[in-house]
Amino acid sequence: MSQSDDLYRLAEMTWQEVEAAVDETQTILLPVGSTEQHGHHMPLGVDVYMPDAVAERVAERTGCLLAPPVWYGVSPHHTFKPGTFTVESETFQHYVRDICASAADWGVENVLLINGHYLVQDPELDVVVRELTNEHGMRAFHVPLISGFEDAATAVRDSDVSFHASEFETSMMLELFPELVDMDRAEAVDAPDDALPLTDYDAFGDNRVGWALSADRMDELTPTGNLGDPTVATREKGARMVDDVVGKVTQLVEALDDLDAPTAAESGE
Ligand SMILES: [Zn+2]
Repeated sequence: MSQSDDLYRLAEMTWQEVEAAVDETQTILLPVGSTEQHGHHMPLGVDVYMPDAVAERVAERTGCLLAPPVWYGVSPHHTFKPGTFTVESETFQHYVRDICASAADWGVENVLLINGHYLVQDPELDVVVRELTNEHGMRAFHVPLISGFEDAATAVRDSDVSFHASEFETSMMLELFPELVDMDRAEAVDAPDDALPLTDYDAFGDNRVGWALSADRMDELTPTGNLGDPTVATREKGARMVDDVVGKVTQLVEALDDLDAPTAAESGE
């Protein structure tokens, strides 16, 4: 493969191509996900496939770099089904931070953690952003996919509850990787009606206090692994959600590319 404008996937580039690329862009996207169960109708890689495909579209538009994704995340509540991997919070946090800090060493100033694992590993990634900012002089951002597509998802949704492997994720996958979704096997699983005040089981719900689901509780709640109704997912909904998040992340990357490089003092050099 020769050097060209559409060369942005680091895993497919030589070091010389990367060296040339960081003269043009100081921004890298790192898709961060989890390998975990997604019900009967979708594969284990959903939380990585989604952010990687979204990041690819942003890289195509902006010319920023795209790092190989982080496939393993913090998923203790999904271990009730085989195929799920989970790593300790600290392990995950240090691993993601060290990956990004490596990129700082070869000239990358801005890093966006494109997070496909809904809500659960947000605290770890927020800490990573703080460490990269304060200790490595980077401009770092945690970009949960769910925040990027919230406007479109809210506009198109039909189900009352969409929590895991349901309307939102299934719609995104129908748009991005339809061959990996088996809608014949999709089933609605109702959320429990015993939610406590300030908590519920919807991704955009009234979750105003910190709480967590254990694997045992998930096992009680869902025989299939999904929570919510994936049968109302459509490719059209997914297309709107993808456009929404790609557009927003593209704006952020373009704004970063317009900024001046941090001073030596800011970057700690
Ligand atoms: Zn997921």
